[in-house]
Amino acid sequence: MDYQQILNTIQEEMSYRDVTGKVASYIPELAKVDQKKFGMHVYCGDQKNFSFGDSEEKFSIQSISKVFTLAIAMRLMGEDLWDRLNVEPSGDPFNSLTQLEYESGIPRNPFINAGALVISDILLDQLDDPKQELLDFVRKITGDDDIHYDKKVASSEKSTGYRNIALVNYIKALGNIKCDVEPIVDFYFHQCSLAMSCKQLSRAFMIFANRGKILETNEKILKPKTVKRINALMQTCGFYDEAGEFSFQVGLPGKSGVGGGIVAIHPDNYSVAVWSPILNEKGNSELGMKALERFTTLTGVSVF
Ligand code: GLU
Repeated sequence: MDYQQILNTIQEEMSYRDVTGKVASYIPELAKVDQKKFGMHVYCGDQKNFSFGDSEEKFSIQSISKVFTLAIAMRLMGEDLWDRLNVEPSGDPFNSLTQLEYESGIPRNPFINAGALVISDILLDQLDDPKQELLDFVRKITGDDDIHYDKKVASSEKSTGYRNIALVNYIKALGNIKCDVEPIVDFYFHQCSLAMSCKQLSRAFMIFANRGKILETNEKILKPKTVKRINALMQTCGFYDEAGEFSFQVGLPGKSGVGGGIVAIHPDNYSVAVWSPILNEKGNSELGMKALERFTTLTGVSVF
């Protein structure tokens, strides 16, 4: 398959000028990002790489980090994890508090903020140095040590993170948080501040396209069953309350973040990452979604 030809077509056809959304501004540091940025990178099972535009520039991966912390939590807890979290799409905004009230503090899934904060609590409770262990995990699966937290983004989110702080307090009141609130949100704001490029993200996510093994070394990092569950959750819950629309348009499991990144995988085939910071009203990269729709249409390769 000549993926480069298809990527070139997408780059020629699409521009940030064609979308109407806005860059995220509720985290002040994210509002400073240049809205013209647009890049895409495809990493294939035969280790071939294809890309265009700003594919090697790092950006704030935000909620995409929730897939990494979920993978670590599943390694630590196995199936016991599901006593503390549910696996259903929320159909509500990612930072909603209301569902927690009538669902007794059990978040709908690990990719809404409530669920990711319960996972932060688990990592904080079970690991000696969760920030370092998360970095080590991401660097290992990416095969790249040049991955870091962006301290400016983390402290910027902390300065306006009242909703996330409220969520942890609320879940703690309902009995599903063990650790203190401050270190949980500090860890969560750091994980969201991880800065990675499309090239790095597509390499990292190859683990989910390759049944839990690092492609280059064949080292087994996750059980196939864990990968099956994570991919199913990306398919059903990876795009806030637009997961149905993403499935409908693109037809791949994936995860987005309010930094404008999206990464999606095709099991046994490829991993693809795209970045354009302008978000639609549901909080997904507007151009990124369109680019991935074109990608699976032009290649004819999706999971459906
Ligand atoms: N740090 C962001 C928040 O908690 C992540 C949101 C996202 O990317 O969905 O609001």
